[in-house]
Amino acid sequence: MSQTKYIFVTGGVTSSLGKGIIAASLAKLLQARGYTTTIQKLDPYINVDPGTLNPYEHGECYVTDDGAETDLDLGHYERFLNVRTSQANNVTTGRIYQSVIEKERRGEFLGKTVQVVPHITNEIKERIQILGKSGDYDIVITEIGGTVGDIESLPYIEAVRQLLWELGDNNGIVVHLTLVPFLSAAGELKTKPTQHSVKTLMESGIKADILVCRTEHEISEDIKRKLALFCNVKQEAVIQSIDASTIYDVPLLMQEEGLDTVALEKLALPDDKVPGLDLWKQFLNRHKNPKSKVTIGLIGKYVELQDSYKSILESFIHAGAANEVKVEVRSIHSEHISKNDVDKKMMGLDGILVAPGFGERGIEGKILAVQYARENNIPFLGICLGMQMAVIEFARNVLGLENANSTEMDDNTPYPVINLMEEQKSVTNMGGTMRLGAWDCQLQNETLVQEVYGQTEISERHRHRFEFNNDYKAQMEEAGLVASGFNPKTGLVEVIEIPSHPWFVGVQYHPEYKSTVADPHPLFVGFVKAVLMQKQQTNASLA
Ligand code: GLN
Repeated sequence: MSQTKYIFVTGGVTSSLGKGIIAASLAKLLQARGYTTTIQKLDPYINVDPGTLNPYEHGECYVTDDGAETDLDLGHYERFLNVRTSQANNVTTGRIYQSVIEKERRGEFLGKTVQVVPHITNEIKERIQILGKSGDYDIVITEIGGTVGDIESLPYIEAVRQLLWELGDNNGIVVHLTLVPFLSAAGELKTKPTQHSVKTLMESGIKADILVCRTEHEISEDIKRKLALFCNVKQEAVIQSIDASTIYDVPLLMQEEGLDTVALEKLALPDDKVPGLDLWKQFLNRHKNPKSKVTIGLIGKYVELQDSYKSILESFIHAGAANEVKVEVRSIHSEHISKNDVDKKMMGLDGILVAPGFGERGIEGKILAVQYARENNIPFLGICLGMQMAVIEFARNVLGLENANSTEMDDNTPYPVINLMEEQKSVTNMGGTMRLGAWDCQLQNETLVQEVYGQTEISERHRHRFEFNNDYKAQMEEAGLVASGFNPKTGLVEVIEIPSHPWFVGVQYHPEYKSTVADPHPLFVGFVKAVLMQKQQTNASLA
């Protein structure tokens, strides 16, 4: 296909309608029909990337292979499509302005006054087209963050308007996601908020081609007709998006509603291929019909906000389906775990995962959770900070190194078993300066991780500044904690495990970023399998 086609996804009425899931679902359907598709997210905030944001602000910071710290929606895109994203897939207002200002400083604007229109809008248009011009994709879906009418969205909306005009008919379309609320007092679904948000879009010169209407109740044909009439779209372009029990149902619900068919028609693309969604349906079937259940504790300090650990929660869904087991994740706040109640807090857990994180708050609770898992033979997975906590716990309680710590938490610790990476010592800026993205890792033969991965050469994504202190490696290994994976170039320890324990693994990297529906991550699959086996054995011995 010569010309890349563009689909813009905007949102109206309210935030949190799930534009990311709708964009990913539409992309999945188009991909299933044989179109190479990617998704891009434009975020109207001024941070250059979400790397400096607290998870309470926007949830998890997702990391791509090329080391971009991005919005968590990119995680959904990868999990749905099984296609890698990159820096180009997430652009913020901060990044746009940064690059325009850098160009201005270099004198590239030849003495002109630099303005929102055309300079900022041109930069936005260029960023949108980078993916299309790569020649890798038939269709690029661009999700515009925020809600139409927001002050900060205006330059994006204007850039989209111009681009639609430049692309010409059938080469770019707009899918507008909106809310159709149910007023219980009136017993009715209300269309007015949608009419208003479509009107707001129209005031900026953009006509929505397709309306995706989030709703808690079925939208009747009558209401669809009314929405179509007042919002200037065809009736078949009014798509109902009813609340689903899992996000993985959404592509199929959108297919039933004909979202992909209308989109292809509007883009003048052939609609002859039947979507190949067999593997997706098999996954859903396994996810919805588990044969047993396990409970895994997620020990973290951002547990109040589910989005903070999005990729971990989704990885458990993929790994649960692979093992035909329901993984119930019990979130436990690490700040609320104390010596006196750790037994009570961990009661009933079949497996324990200690989450990534930064800073001192809540780390002692994480260390207690590791100790509980190690001493009670409960399958354990520690990710990034979770792995570092496992090393500290082992140093303190097995090696007897009192007050062993990470220099992140205690600069004066007598035993810095985790310390700042050499190349981090000169870093002063906080944004985008961690060890980020995909790095090779060599797994040792005859170790648990080598068995789990079924290979010795792997590549995983990272986001950290601190590392295992190799000065303590010999001492740790002698006492039974083995470094089973390392970076082949630098020797940095990437994986630790305790061979005498049924399943105890800590990884410096983030396996959760790479788990997808089509390709569940081996470490999560292996962890859930071990949790299940251990539970079955315990039950058998009790019977
Ligand atoms: N704070 C730790 C570090 O910087 C762990 C980071 C993480 O868990 N992502 O090394």
